[in-house]
Amino acid sequence: MQQIEESRRTVAQLSGDPSLIDAVRVATSLAKSEVEVAIFDQHRAVVVASLGQTVLQPRPLRPTEQALLDHDGRHQLDERFSSFAILSPRGEVIGALTVARTGDEFDPDAMHGLARLCATRASQLATGSDDQDVADLILHALRDAVVVVDPGFRVTFTNKAISTQLGYHPSEVIGMNVADLVHPDDLDSAFSSLAKLSGGDEVYRSVIRVKNSSGDFKRMDVTGRDLSNDSRVGGIVLSLRDGNHHTELENTLNRNERLSKAIVEQLQDGIVATDALGALLVVNDAARRILGLDPTVPAAALKLEDMTFLDASGHVAQGSDHPVRQVLAGSELPGQEMSTIADSKYRNLVVSGRPVLGTDGETIGTVLGLHDVTEARQTEREFRARSLHDQLTGLPNRRKMDERLATYLDEKPELLVTACLIDLDNFKLINDTHGHRIGDEVLRAATKRVKLDRHNTDLVVRLGGDEFVVLFDSKDADEALAIANDIVSNLRQPVTINNMTFTLTASIGVAQVRGSDIGSGDLLRHADLALYSAKAKGRNRAERFTDELANAAKIADSQRETLRRALDEDALEMHFQPLVDSVSDKLLGFESLARCRNRNGTLVAPGGFVDAASSSGLIWELDSKAFDLSCKAAAAMSVAQPGLSVACNFSALSIVQPDFVETISETLTRYELDPSLMCIEITESAAFDTGPAAIAALLSLHDRGIRLALDDFGTGYSSLAHIRDLPLSVVKVDRTFIGKLEAGSTEHAIAKAIVALSADLDLTVVAEGVETQEQLDLARSMGFNVIQGWYYSRAQSLADVLSMLASKSSDGTATALPEHWMVRSDASEDIAA
Ligand code: C2E
Ligand code: CA
Ligand code: CA
Repeated sequence: MQQIEESRRTVAQLSGDPSLIDAVRVATSLAKSEVEVAIFDQHRAVVVASLGQTVLQPRPLRPTEQALLDHDGRHQLDERFSSFAILSPRGEVIGALTVARTGDEFDPDAMHGLARLCATRASQLATGSDDQDVADLILHALRDAVVVVDPGFRVTFTNKAISTQLGYHPSEVIGMNVADLVHPDDLDSAFSSLAKLSGGDEVYRSVIRVKNSSGDFKRMDVTGRDLSNDSRVGGIVLSLRDGNHHTELENTLNRNERLSKAIVEQLQDGIVATDALGALLVVNDAARRILGLDPTVPAAALKLEDMTFLDASGHVAQGSDHPVRQVLAGSELPGQEMSTIADSKYRNLVVSGRPVLGTDGETIGTVLGLHDVTEARQTEREFRARSLHDQLTGLPNRRKMDERLATYLDEKPELLVTACLIDLDNFKLINDTHGHRIGDEVLRAATKRVKLDRHNTDLVVRLGGDEFVVLFDSKDADEALAIANDIVSNLRQPVTINNMTFTLTASIGVAQVRGSDIGSGDLLRHADLALYSAKAKGRNRAERFTDELANAAKIADSQRETLRRALDEDALEMHFQPLVDSVSDKLLGFESLARCRNRNGTLVAPGGFVDAASSSGLIWELDSKAFDLSCKAAAAMSVAQPGLSVACNFSALSIVQPDFVETISETLTRYELDPSLMCIEITESAAFDTGPAAIAALLSLHDRGIRLALDDFGTGYSSLAHIRDLPLSVVKVDRTFIGKLEAGSTEHAIAKAIVALSADLDLTVVAEGVETQEQLDLARSMGFNVIQGWYYSRAQSLADVLSMLASKSSDGTATALPEHWMVRSDASEDIAA
């Protein structure tokens, strides 16, 4: 019962499929009625049989068909018939299909192909695979014609698109040989493509002329893949598409090629292209011009050897060194410096080259680009020469010196290299008074004096401005110093320019290192320290570098370090030294003095960082920070005792800062301070050596109500006349005077004059550094208004000052100052200097 059911279903499925019936009919009709097709199920019942166009009645199984099922074999064939199993998706035999030849004309291969195709189709249908149905739908919906050809190059399947593409009904094409469809001229390439494909996993693609239903040839773009080994297909699957877009592509390519050619000819750079063997294909005009090749000879007639390339060391790049051959050998030239000699002219080239790769990545040729850089290199050389020399004097410059120094390291490591660093004294003055033109002339004249007539003078360099370096090698330090002294006396010879006679003097720093130590940079650093010392010793002399100078420099470094750290870590503190009225003994205010607190808690006095601050450009940062802290302290003090003044020190370098006045005003505003409580202390030299800008700044502060004190008076020019030029309120007489005030001394006389003048000008005059009762008495008797010094107190921390001001005993007089503040001996302050 069940058997009959299943049989019926198979019959219904198989006979209900028009494409199978079609296939069978087509197959049999093709074979001119020479084949019989039979389909039977797994129950050995023939369900369809046909001969030619005729569908036969089911018939009993033949013994061979019986054997196929008995042996569960997938395929049985002989000369007469071919039988394929119909498989379920799990691979079970669920039926079989036989194609049998009834005559001799239909060849056995075609018979097998037909059988496989039909069996495959039947398998698909019998199992009712949905996937397959979908795939089918898709296959037939494709725009591309899909054709399967069997190993005998016979078409075993095609989809419906064959009719839109080539005008055939699918059944017309089945069984046709590829040779019948392809243009005779394209046959060779079609067959060789198919042969290449077979067995492989590749897809091939070509454009082939295919005959359409009306006998015309049409260019088709064909891709193929061999699926002969897949029993479901059993052939090569080809997909055919209208190839006319190819022509279009070709046209575009042609156009592009013409365009490329035009571009290549237009280029300023030379272009050379070769094939994989190095035969020249393209040598554009520019390349011919650069390489000196005849413009009329075709590229193919030229040889690689006709192009001369010299490598960086000037050797002709021959044989495998020829850039084209280098590229062919697999190396890319990313832009090689080369040169060529053409028409007896030398040219610098940048040659870049790369292989041209085929679709499979194989090298099919090379392209070289030749960039002519002759002029650029020439300019570079000139520029280099210029950049190594000073324009004014024609002397080598710093860069040249660096180059030369570097050669010592390599070539003369044993030599003692000497550098004399020369600075003309007060040269700025010549420039300022006589103008730059004369200044330049004087410099040129000086240059001649600096040049030594010694065979071992290596180099005379102008570093810039009025600074020179003479490099030479000497046997020892004494000889080096003697040579430096010669330069000093040479330079002292008067120079006459425009009938004016100038006498130059110079300061020289001398240093030496071994050639092997040049890299350390010590040579010029040491020479610089020595020069500094020569200037400090009064100029017009040569000084040798010594270890003491190095130590001093080291100390300066560590001082700078202390200050830097203090500023960065908020470790700057202000301490306050009382100022006392000499008559009433009343506390008037304080001078605020900077200290740096070290990490270990100790205090460092200004002697340990103020010089470093000045020489390293940190001074303004220090002074503005100190002023800020002083104002903050003044605000705190005025809460405890209104009316106390605070005096703050500023260096000359700070006063000339562009934002000096603004910073001071802004700080006062921020702490809401009465400006008249703040006093700014500057030294004489700060006030008068820095020029009109400094005086303008001080006047502007005066206008804002800030008081100004002239500090350390008596140590500088002590020019009393100058005092009137400044809006001063206070003059502070230096401690060195106060120590020598006994009657009859010069100091006494000067101090007396200062006090008198101050009284005249209505200035407050302060005695600094009063340490003893005698000094206090003298200062009082001489008429000093204010006393400052250890007699009363050294500088105190803000906390101590505030607690003193808050204490009940404070009645605003000096006698109310705490006992322990007083240091009435010359014991120094409890701080590191
Ligand atoms: P200065 O302005 O002349 O300050 C007075 C110096 O003399 C202070 O030294 C003070 O401690 C010291 N001194 C006061 N009374 C006596 C005394 O009776 N005997 C002796 N032997 N010394 C006394 P300090 O604090 O070491 O300051 C040294 C210098 O550092 C100051 O001299 C000032 O020129 C400078 N300085 C201090 N703070 C600053 C600042 O914030 N900025 C700038 N630019 N300089 C500052
Ligand atoms: Ca001072
Ligand atoms: Ca002072």
